Amino acid sequence: MYWQKELEMMEDGLIRELQLKRLKEAVLAASRSPFYRERFQQMGLEPEDIRTLGDLHKLPLTTKNDLRQAYPFGFLTVPKERVIRLHASTGTTGRPTVILYSRADLDQWTDLVARCLVMTGVRQGDVFQNMTGYGLFTGGLGFHYAAERLGIFTIPIGSGNTRRQIQMMREFETTVIHSIPSYALYLANALSAMGIDPRKELSLRIAHLGAEPHSEQVRRKVEEIYGVDAFNSYGLSEMYGPGGAFECIAKDGMHIWEDAYLPEIIDPKTGKPVEEGAEGELVMTSLGREAMPLLRYRTGDLTSFCPGICGCGRRHRRIRRITGRADDMFIIKGVNIFPIQVEQVLLGMEEAGNNYQIILERKDYTDIMTVAVEVQERFFLGDRKEMENIRQRVAKHLREELLVTPEVELLKPGALESTGGKAVRVVDRRDIYEGGISYTGPE
Ligand code: AMP
Ligand code: ZN
Repeated sequence: MYWQKELEMMEDGLIRELQLKRLKEAVLAASRSPFYRERFQQMGLEPEDIRTLGDLHKLPLTTKNDLRQAYPFGFLTVPKERVIRLHASTGTTGRPTVILYSRADLDQWTDLVARCLVMTGVRQGDVFQNMTGYGLFTGGLGFHYAAERLGIFTIPIGSGNTRRQIQMMREFETTVIHSIPSYALYLANALSAMGIDPRKELSLRIAHLGAEPHSEQVRRKVEEIYGVDAFNSYGLSEMYGPGGAFECIAKDGMHIWEDAYLPEIIDPKTGKPVEEGAEGELVMTSLGREAMPLLRYRTGDLTSFCPGICGCGRRHRRIRRITGRADDMFIIKGVNIFPIQVEQVLLGMEEAGNNYQIILERKDYTDIMTVAVEVQERFFLGDRKEMENIRQRVAKHLREELLVTPEVELLKPGALESTGGKAVRVVDRRDIYEGGISYTGPE
């Protein structure tokens, strides 16, 4: 039932006590990093100013942009030699947000994810197939080491390669999978095309779905198709990765391990806490983290706290399914993209005009991202072959930056002329937060 029972079943009062102790330690540790040292100085803040959990608001908020500015070592609080792992946020080949881990960090993280696995019923004897990307993305290694720590038979197959996934699932009788939700549905289609009935011919009993927004309907669909219990897994590399918040068997919100994270929900516009239970942006402070403690990190994800005590008995607070973003980031195939990345690529090309629009659509579980861009007058007059060359060049440059292949549509100058209002840069027709979902990854 539990991996670290004492911590998982802590009384509320004890959780708060531990949080305060660890918050003070985190602030002191953070003050040794170049980034926070300077920020604290500017604010006239001393670590001793944090005496209660109520003093949290005195601390600065930290953003993804801060991480980029302080790249690569500005948040580090230990000597470089103590760093043994690097991960990065998905979605850009530009200046990424990198996360550095000491041995103690990896140890803490692994235990957090191990708790999540056990909490959802994973046991020795299970066969765990990890279908998310290994490498810089945290979903691969994060789950992998946790499963190994539990002594579970682990198949590190990574993402894509659908035929092989199916072969492994059948031959090794995989019982637990970790997948991004759109891939789980994509895989279901492939199984059906091969005439395989997952409920009869596979041995699955648990699915962990994470890394991208999805709805309750998608969960149910996965559960029905595969005959499994599916659990929502939320995380972000800035907070180690998976294990940030995870559903238990009650499937009524995702627990945040509060001995390791101090969560808040703020109004993204004012930065002030929202009323209890109201929706806002999730902000997290890492507790007990060594190499790179982050204070009040703005996740950009919109959610709310669930009221009351969970049926499973754990007191660690729960958040609801993510309902959207406070900023304009969108996710395709588990890869995070900001419109500004598209804009920068286009600005760097003399053929491209000033206006563009990103259209996201879904066809047969496949995401299609189209970048419609106006062409400069003098290039638009070119012949058809010339236009096709431009189109391909734009697509290539975008692919290199985004790591995702977009469709490109060239428009005549002025085609996207604004009507005076704020330009609509992203048109998302996929309904990911409500209904279906899609996959565009490798097959
Ligand atoms: P990364 O740091 O690249 O792993 O991306 C983290 C982001 O992925 C989060 O900030 C969320 O926007 C998104 N994300 C991860 N897990 C979930 C989930 N279960 N539901 C919705 N969004 C998620
Ligand atoms: Zn619970």
